[in-house]
Amino acid sequence: AAKQTGEPVRRWTPALDERAGEFVRLGAEIRAALDQDQFRVVYQPIVELPSGRVAAVEALVRWEHPVRGVVSPAAFIPVAERNGLIVELGEWILRTACRRLAEWRAELGDAAPRRVSVNVSARQLARPRFAATVAAALADSGLPPACLAVEVTETAVFEGGQAVIALHELRALGVRIALDDFGTGHSSLGLLQTVPVDILKVDKSFVDQVTEAGRHTVIAEALFQVSSGLGLVAVAEGVETAAQAEALHRLGYRYLQGYHYGRPVADPDFALTSAIAGQS
Ligand code: C2E
Ligand code: CA
Ligand code: CA
Ligand code: CA
Repeated sequence: AAKQTGEPVRRWTPALDERAGEFVRLGAEIRAALDQDQFRVVYQPIVELPSGRVAAVEALVRWEHPVRGVVSPAAFIPVAERNGLIVELGEWILRTACRRLAEWRAELGDAAPRRVSVNVSARQLARPRFAATVAAALADSGLPPACLAVEVTETAVFEGGQAVIALHELRALGVRIALDDFGTGHSSLGLLQTVPVDILKVDKSFVDQVTEAGRHTVIAEALFQVSSGLGLVAVAEGVETAAQAEALHRLGYRYLQGYHYGRPVADPDFALTSAIAGQS
């Protein structure tokens, strides 16, 4: 008999059906949660060395579910991306974050962070009117365009097309572009030749072992060299210890983000952090 090749036939199983049911259920709940105002935006500091100043914040969404408690975005963003609700949810997050930074600027003046960074999914970026949506959020909040960065993943822009057009339109508005989870996607370095980018967010996986001599450290250093050579700002993500912060500072990094400096919260403290690593 001929050897079977290719994908095995996917049979119906109760497990698959349950997952499909869960997907539909969760999708309906996200719809209801939007209407019932159950989403919140929290903000995580991005600290500048050596001053320890909170230079920027990253906006991260939370779902305060009445029964399940706080639901992680890892659990519902992928569902919202698949059923399209990310477009509405994402616009709400964008508007909320712009308004919040505009408030901080009015309240705190120079002590406010200079920028808020908002995660944008592939599905949002692929919509022809995305840049217009961003322009409207900026105009309605009164936030200057340079105070906003959009964080996109390599995967979202990998295909080119409308997503890359949108990035050029955002750039023309004066909005900054950050490549998120940098180094973990498909074509990291090649993308830098074709996509307008201002900020590289170096993924936590390179930061975790940056205190040990080894591959991760070599890559973390190379990524910093590439970003500075291209005139980009490098932000190291997922910094959890003072030792990691010191090691990154030695490699040249000046912008760090992670639990070591602060978890994402509704109302971060913008006072100078005492945890200034590598200050000379
Ligand atoms: P991301 O954009 O890479 O965000 C960084 C994630 O790492 C956040 O998880 C943050 O809380 C977490 N993190 C920050 N510092 C540390 C650290 O020192 N150690 C560890 N272990 N984790 C740290 P979060 O908030 O659960 O978000 C997970 C992912 O969900 C995000 O990854 C992003 O891909 C997505 N996401 C979150 N908010 C939004 C949003 O508003 N819109 C979209 N489209 N996606 C979002
Ligand atoms: Ca991000
Ligand atoms: Ca990231
Ligand atoms: Ca991530």
